[in-house]
Amino acid sequence: MSTLEITGLHVSVAADGGAKEILKGVDLTVRSGETHAIMGPNGSGKSTLAYAIAGHPKYEITAGNVTLDGQDILAMTVDERARAGLFLAMQYPVEVPGVSMANFLRSAATAVRGEAPKLRTWVKEVKGAMSDLDIDPDFAERSVNEGFSGGEKKRHEVLQLSLLKPKFAVLDETDSGLDVDALRVVSEGVNRFRADGDVGVLLITHYTRILQHIRPDVVHVFAGGKVVSTGGAELADELERNGYARFTTGAPAEA
Ligand code: ADP
Ligand code: MG
Ligand code: MG
Repeated sequence: MSTLEITGLHVSVAADGGAKEILKGVDLTVRSGETHAIMGPNGSGKSTLAYAIAGHPKYEITAGNVTLDGQDILAMTVDERARAGLFLAMQYPVEVPGVSMANFLRSAATAVRGEAPKLRTWVKEVKGAMSDLDIDPDFAERSVNEGFSGGEKKRHEVLQLSLLKPKFAVLDETDSGLDVDALRVVSEGVNRFRADGDVGVLLITHYTRILQHIRPDVVHVFAGGKVVSTGGAELADELERNGYARFTTGAPAEA
């Protein structure tokens, strides 16, 4: 059993004319075995939350805490966060020219496990996970994310997820750029990861579409840099019908 706890999180980014506060006091607790969806309009700060948890240098934490089983995540290096069991998939993943997927995945697994996986079992593991996700075997030799389509990037994320087996996964817009078939394959991958055991998922999304495939236990509505409402899966159904208007009236429009 583990717990990811975000308390009073305030985050700013550098902007013309000084720092701009994006997150204005986020409180959120996710326990293993739970999937929480964070839903909100564009510009509400959802990706900023993901970047802040990931330790992206552009996002400055001005107040608050993020802990995993009581350990201060924000004090850790990016590698330490991964070793602690956090997995972060970004809305816009970086390209790494000249590094093959096969090598990248093995280094990532080495960083997380503390030792290099045995080559023979590793190759088998990777092939199995790739086939589960309908990924072409040639993919292993391609440079990380370079020239990947939107769908390929998202499959790659879920491939990492299934190989690295973190305790907690933060997935930002895992559904963006996916057609119906790719959405199904990617969702099945996330569901296999969830079914595998005692893991927590924070699923960040603008659209309710992916929640038809990955049913959340808890739904948070995010607006203006904080959680403004929390409910069960039925809250997502209400957003599907009525949109975000009832949560954003009075809030400043997106810049
Ligand atoms: P969402 O993911 O909900 O669409 P974001 O977290 O991407 O929202 O953005 C929230 C706000 O923060 C937006 O107004 C955006 O322009 C601003 N913002 C996010 N990242 C940066 C950045 N690196 N530099 C400047 N402004 C940023
Ligand atoms: Mg956005
Ligand atoms: Mg975003």
